[in-house]
Amino acid sequence: MASTKTTHVRTLIIGGGITGLSTAYALEQRKDTDYLVVEAQDHVGGLCVTTCQKGYQFDFGGHLLHLHTAQGKKLIKKLLGTNLQRHTRHAFIYTNGMQVPYPFQQNLWALYPELRALCVEELKRLNSCSKISPNNFEEWCLKLFGYGIYEAFLRPYNEKLWGCALSELSCDWCGPFVPAPLRKEILQSAQRKPTKPTGYNASFYYPKKGGIGALVNALAQHVTHVRTKAKVTSIDLTKKVAQINKQTFIHFDRLVNTIPLPDFVNLLNANTHLKKAVTALKARPVTIYHLAIARNVPHFSWIYFPDQTQPFYRVGLQSGFASDSMPSKKSSLFYIELPGLVPQTSAMEERIWQGLHQKGIVSCEDTKLFSAWQTIPCAYVMFNTTRAQTVPFLLNELEKQQVYCAGRYGRWEYSFMERSLIQADQLAQKLAKLV
Ligand SMILES: Cc1cc2nc3c(=O)[nH]c(=O)nc-3n(C[C@H](O)[C@H](O)[C@H](O)COP(=O)(O)OP(=O)(O)OC[C@H]3O[C@@H](n4cnc5c(N)ncnc54)[C@H](O)[C@@H]3O)c2cc1C
Repeated sequence: MASTKTTHVRTLIIGGGITGLSTAYALEQRKDTDYLVVEAQDHVGGLCVTTCQKGYQFDFGGHLLHLHTAQGKKLIKKLLGTNLQRHTRHAFIYTNGMQVPYPFQQNLWALYPELRALCVEELKRLNSCSKISPNNFEEWCLKLFGYGIYEAFLRPYNEKLWGCALSELSCDWCGPFVPAPLRKEILQSAQRKPTKPTGYNASFYYPKKGGIGALVNALAQHVTHVRTKAKVTSIDLTKKVAQINKQTFIHFDRLVNTIPLPDFVNLLNANTHLKKAVTALKARPVTIYHLAIARNVPHFSWIYFPDQTQPFYRVGLQSGFASDSMPSKKSSLFYIELPGLVPQTSAMEERIWQGLHQKGIVSCEDTKLFSAWQTIPCAYVMFNTTRAQTVPFLLNELEKQQVYCAGRYGRWEYSFMERSLIQADQLAQKLAKLV
């Protein structure tokens, strides 16, 4: 029988992804070193890991740094130093035979004349003084953009990504992520091309070398107390003890959770009311196909595909912003994101190739140099209509028991890397004030 070991730490951090590492880093910065990060896998980084196979370097889909705050910029620059480059977005939507610059709703000039006229007419028809708040994502889109833009892009693209009707989603996540220009600006965009790119990702940063993994590697250098291959298998919040790999017990004073909120709650013994509440929380998986071809394709950042004829919803050009991602400069590396858990078969590879060919991204003369699949079972938190009540309830109940949740999955939100770093810093500040 395996012997059991028992230790004690002041702060136990579950998950060694960017949020767990950032929390440890922020504690280290405050000289609070009585912590331990426990990570189930044999390496840290979570979804911010860069994989290298046969000389090709890729992330879990596009992992670009959208830096919105001075604090986030400062933190990232401190960690990456000169290994950081700014890029301008060159993103498009391919739909119904048109190539429309992103965001669609601010580039009506690029639509064919009948569709442009419909979008403008439907937008003008809206009652701009209406004070009625939208109840769901569908109502939000219709209220802001009108039926034309909704039907031409927002509905098909989002239904493909989320795999449900937009009336089943709430609209409390849209703010920073769905560009919402003023009605005046949308109408102006039907007359002329906007002079500068807009939206939260008009420009982005990315490490010059080492992929996005360079960021978590930089963080990890400052984190002393990490245990990998250490999967938390159960937690007793009354006795304040976590079981690791079923044989080690770690006592703690407070707990930081960064793993998906439903998984965390299901590790708790007791707390049946919380377990019942998490059954309402759902996630949308994503499958990623990485493909390299022996040709330099014309530059783009990423392209959205709302039409059902292609199995993917977004294609990004990794080699466009990561020059060290391929062994040969005369090649191109794409990340191709497919909604849900897709069968990883040669038939699906063929469908993807056909889809890329149909859109002129690859040609008959192109040869495949490399391909690899990845899946992310919990990729996008579903903002279903019950989430808005359930998540604050759970976070509040857990905090009463000195459990602090952080990150995209820990707080069950639509979040990104910069926010992980900032949340972690704020959390370390809060923990420093607690006895
Ligand atoms: C397709 C896709 C594209 C994205 N693109 C971007 C982008 O361009 N820019 C951006 O800023 N953000 C992007 N994001 C979001 C970004 O990936 C997340 O915000 C970030 O990675 C979350 O990090 P985390 O540490 O909170 O979670 P994770 O990376 O999921 O880390 C959690 C860690 O916990 C570990 N773990 C799980 N269970 C246990 C257990 N029982 N015991 C111990 N350890 C456990 C896991 O192994 C994992 O390492 C994207 C996300 C997806 C899905």
